Amino acid sequence: MFDLVVVGEGGGPDETNLSACVVLSRHSYLFKPSDASWDDGIIALEAGSGQGTLQKLLQRDPHLFNTPDQSLTRAKPYTAAEVYSLVRCFLISHAHLDHVNSLVLSAGSLRGPRKRLCAAKQTLADLESVFADRIWPNLASWNEDDDDHKLLYTMLGMNDTYDPLIPNVSVCSFPVSHGHNEGGNYDSTAFFIRYDPTGHEFLFFGDLEPDTLSLSPQTINVWRAAAPKIPASLCTIFIECSWPSSRSDDTLYGHLKPEHLVAELEALASEVVKVRNALQSGASARPMRKKQRMNPITAPPSDLRGALDGVQVFVMHCKDTLDGAEDRPNQTLIIEQIKALLEVKELGVEISPVRQGARIRI
Ligand SMILES: [Zn+2]
Ligand SMILES: [Zn+2]
Repeated sequence: MFDLVVVGEGGGPDETNLSACVVLSRHSYLFKPSDASWDDGIIALEAGSGQGTLQKLLQRDPHLFNTPDQSLTRAKPYTAAEVYSLVRCFLISHAHLDHVNSLVLSAGSLRGPRKRLCAAKQTLADLESVFADRIWPNLASWNEDDDDHKLLYTMLGMNDTYDPLIPNVSVCSFPVSHGHNEGGNYDSTAFFIRYDPTGHEFLFFGDLEPDTLSLSPQTINVWRAAAPKIPASLCTIFIECSWPSSRSDDTLYGHLKPEHLVAELEALASEVVKVRNALQSGASARPMRKKQRMNPITAPPSDLRGALDGVQVFVMHCKDTLDGAEDRPNQTLIIEQIKALLEVKELGVEISPVRQGARIRI
């Protein structure tokens, strides 16, 4: 369905190998439909790191953008500048620096056609406050006919609507909670990204906090939208797990640790079982979902075993802390902890790390 290249991913030893001065974790993915060429248009999902990082990745693996389908592969490897000139749209979950750093810094030197900057209303407002001729020059606009500004602000609808990104690819966006501050709740976004010709999707979460600790739990809405699609049209999920288990709940700063990720996957499994039970008992899934929305405190099904058979979860955003053992970076530790917690649950889900420089076929 899609080919995705991991340009930047928090944690892991690679990040420090690439640049001695990386302090922030930076998150950045590039993807396209599998049956199209990279030349046909690329979507940048988050933009914490960019061309400079990609250049170093390509020095290590010049064929990173060679797709398994030879007919779509160029003889000459792409340069990082060529790849970024082919980006048609940036899809951003929230405006924290580790997700937009490269987007801001490179906005003045972007090549190729004008690029859409697609995000929720508040995220665009946050970015407008950066592109305001004070922190950074104004390099983005809302005007479709304004080619002088390389970035075109494009507001995403929330819940249930699909917005087109590039031909054959559209996105359905949901707000998720990513902590709170003096201004109130701070939202990030989860994206259902769909290949329109087949209806197949993958689910990508921006940073998020656990629903069980949130003042404004919203992730359950994403799981309810996902449940009827699993696994036939949705079997790949990208989600964060920033901290190891040793982190206390009051110092999560709007992120997950393994216990919370597992609780979230159980919430999804529970919704999947409810949908399947409703279908089995002859009721259609749609009235069932409406009923659940009005009454969210329904008892969870008792047996969740196998509910997530065929689902692969990619774990990302594992934060590097200086207290981890050198030979076992936090990502390895966090993945081990998640797997240990999940083993007894037998949900059927497969857990994989997201590694910088990897190409993932979804
Ligand atoms: Zn964040
Ligand atoms: Zn982040």
